[in-house]
Amino acid sequence: MAARTARWAVAGAVTADDARQIGFAAKLEVTSDGGGGHSPVMGTRDSSDWADRGAEGAGWFERMAEHDHEEVIVVQNRETGLRGFVAIHDTTVGPAFGGVRILPYASDSAALEDALRLSRAMTYKASLAGLPCGGGKTTLVAHPGLRRNAAFELLGAVVESLGGRYFCARDVGIEDADLEALARTTRFVGRDPAPGLGDVSQHTAIGVWHSLRACLEAVGIGGKARVAIQGAGSVGAWLARILSREGMQLLVADPKEERAEAVSRETGALVMDAGDILFADAEVLAPCALGGVLNAQTIPQLRCRVVCGCANNMLATLEDGDAIAARGILYAPDYLANAGGLIRGADFFVLGVEDSGPSLARIYERTHEVIARAKSEGISTARAADRLAEARLKPRKTHREMTWRGTVRAAALTRAE
Ligand code: NAD
Repeated sequence: MAARTARWAVAGAVTADDARQIGFAAKLEVTSDGGGGHSPVMGTRDSSDWADRGAEGAGWFERMAEHDHEEVIVVQNRETGLRGFVAIHDTTVGPAFGGVRILPYASDSAALEDALRLSRAMTYKASLAGLPCGGGKTTLVAHPGLRRNAAFELLGAVVESLGGRYFCARDVGIEDADLEALARTTRFVGRDPAPGLGDVSQHTAIGVWHSLRACLEAVGIGGKARVAIQGAGSVGAWLARILSREGMQLLVADPKEERAEAVSRETGALVMDAGDILFADAEVLAPCALGGVLNAQTIPQLRCRVVCGCANNMLATLEDGDAIAARGILYAPDYLANAGGLIRGADFFVLGVEDSGPSLARIYERTHEVIARAKSEGISTARAADRLAEARLKPRKTHREMTWRGTVRAAALTRAE
């Protein structure tokens, strides 16, 4: 049966022309074999070659199967230096949404792992937000041989070839020029700020504020809180603006000092050293930089009563969520608090909603719901959010469900030509 063979191929859904340009891109796809199980499918090389690759090859499938990822496209192009992974976790209720991230990953595995982890988090985020979409993510390896413009144009061709099954947008390390390059070859990219769509980071920050309002109520902080913001990037800066309008006292830090200084000039925030901000004397810690900041080393040193920010994958492990709860600190699950950008994307591209204000405000109620569930079940808020998100996900997918090719609002698509 075809679904049981393992082969190599150029990126599955791209045209022969794209394939020539891309050089080589293996497509790893999991489809139903019709018998209830899941089988790996790849392109046109004998399965024994793949088997020869040993544990690394087998590990990929195991890693995909662990959280039932639908598909991972490996992109490589020698001429442009494009290297990375497009991971599609789940499209059972709608297209996969997820940003493109570019970092100098230490290894290929690290980039793949990030794509798998982040795409799954996007599915959970969409599920908890009640959105008709799933999760995806692209991770690219930044390296000296990368011809950035051309590489992003090629990546756009891969995204376009998916026909709307995956929408991409900005994530860590992405510059405006990268999004412009993507938009030259795909319609399925959210460029922001863009007419109609607005500034996605601003929407994310508004969502964080709604989550924080609920957290402050839950811990009984009625007045003006002191908030330490780690990271003065796109979202961190917007969050600082919102919080200063709400009369909060702000502390901010960023290794790019000019960013922290700019936020300080605009909002009156006190600039701190980036090494100290996590442990600042503040009621609220708002991580708005990279993930993994809440871990066995940092949690015992936290001085805040609430952690609520926009950073993805703040917890190094799920157990770290238990450790935070055990310290009596209220943690707003990251994918709950930072769903505002995704909500805006889904409203604009899929639902045709112009004003996402009411959808963003629902993050407030959802935060209360998660806190209440955590309390009633005696578990951490991180676990409570996972349970709520999982309740909406399908335990078993069929092939038909995984080949979502639904309609998107053509008017919302922004091909730059
Ligand atoms: P960004 O790159 O614009 O900003 C991140 C900032 O953090 C940068 O200014 C960087 O210098 C700073 N930083 C890095 N290490 C730091 C440290 N140790 N201490 C303090 N600052 C540090 O990124 P962004 O778009 O603002 O996203 C921030 C986080 O939020 C990321 O984890 C991202 O995945 C997540 N997120 C963003 C959005 C969005 O709409 N942009 C949506 C959901 C989640």
